[in-house]
Amino acid sequence: MDLRNYSDIDLRRKDLEKELKISLKNIGSYSLDAKSASKKNCENMIGASQVPMGIAGPLLTAQSPALPAGKSEHKAQSCFVPLATTEGALVASVNRGCKAIKLSDGVIVASHKTGVTRAPVFYTGGIIQEQKLYKWVNENKSKIKKAAESTSSHLKFKKLMFRGLADYVFIRFAFDSQDAMGMNMATLATEKIVKLIEKETGIKCISISGNFDVDKKPSWLNFIESRGHKSWAEVVLKKSVIKEVLKTSAERMYDVWLSKNMLGSAMSGSLGFNAHFANVIASIFLATGQDIAHTVEGSMGMTTAKIMKNEDLYFSIYIPSLMVGTVGGGTYLNTQKEALNILGIAEGDSGKNSQKLAEIIGGAVLAGEISLIASLSVSSLGISHRTLGRGEKI
Ligand code: NAP
Repeated sequence: MDLRNYSDIDLRRKDLEKELKISLKNIGSYSLDAKSASKKNCENMIGASQVPMGIAGPLLTAQSPALPAGKSEHKAQSCFVPLATTEGALVASVNRGCKAIKLSDGVIVASHKTGVTRAPVFYTGGIIQEQKLYKWVNENKSKIKKAAESTSSHLKFKKLMFRGLADYVFIRFAFDSQDAMGMNMATLATEKIVKLIEKETGIKCISISGNFDVDKKPSWLNFIESRGHKSWAEVVLKKSVIKEVLKTSAERMYDVWLSKNMLGSAMSGSLGFNAHFANVIASIFLATGQDIAHTVEGSMGMTTAKIMKNEDLYFSIYIPSLMVGTVGGGTYLNTQKEALNILGIAEGDSGKNSQKLAEIIGGAVLAGEISLIASLSVSSLGISHRTLGRGEKI
């Protein structure tokens, strides 16, 4: 069967069932707007995949989300966090982290919008032409900005990074895509810039993406330069909370953090100096309609810990590349929209919504780190996965 020949989702699925001689009745049972999803989100659609969604929280933020650090009114806010996952114990773990945060007076969150990037690769033919291209780009940033911004009523050009190698040039363009994650917007804007460069310099683009973006791959460039949003979260865990809620001590947690997150990550050449950012990020991405492949970039980042004089524990996370949006892509799907509503992110044009989401994710990631590090420090990881992940009675 030629899967593209169907205009009807049900017909395509039914013929596939016949051809494979299997039943796809669960894949064919869903509530999302199939007409819109099959046009905008998924080609050759046959149905939907369901992933259980749990809720953790409330996550108490001690600072209003989306306000620059230091300028906050320190107004406490709280929200429940939707997590779509098949990993038993994950939601319980984040939930426990949220409880420890709440009883320690809340998490401080902050974010910075670096912007979505696209980086075409050009063939110059050698260093002399490369210098010609460098000069033109440097002298014509306003033309580049105008071309980019002509493609959207929301996108703003932010900056560019130019790198030559042999007879190739990579230019990484960064854009503010307001509330959208912005990958399509950045691609359209970059196509317009590329046409301008080709016309004005005669130098040809080989590919609209030259992997200097760096989209959906782990990289030190994104770690250092950032892509999408930077997100920070910190809490001072009280000694009493570490004992009563996390069933451990600051010293034990610190030891696990140092040996695992720092030394083990350094020994293995990991880009993630953390315990499990990807777990929390993937499950929130799935729930809220983010592009799940961007979990790769979100998985990079650092957790830090410091024992205070009174045996409280300072704990923080930093995520350098968080690609999130509250409009566009999968955020229009009904269940994903509802999950955004749980977070208190209503549809709107504030330009701050994606930052608010980045900050909530930062807080939830911190909760996940706290709980897992605590669990490892008292060797309870296996037991919690046996009871919660396998449903065993121990
Ligand atoms: P999009 O849905 O393609 O574009 C966002 C749209 O929302 C634009 O038309 C924009 O308006 C509009 N919009 C309305 N209100 C807005 C607001 N407040 N802030 C920003 N935009 C607003 O979404 P996208 O975020 O650009 O791209 C996301 C999709 O790209 C995902 O599905 C992802 O999987 C996919 N993706 C694409 C590539 C690629 O290379 N193309 C790579 C990775 C992922 P304007 O018309 O004014 O711009």
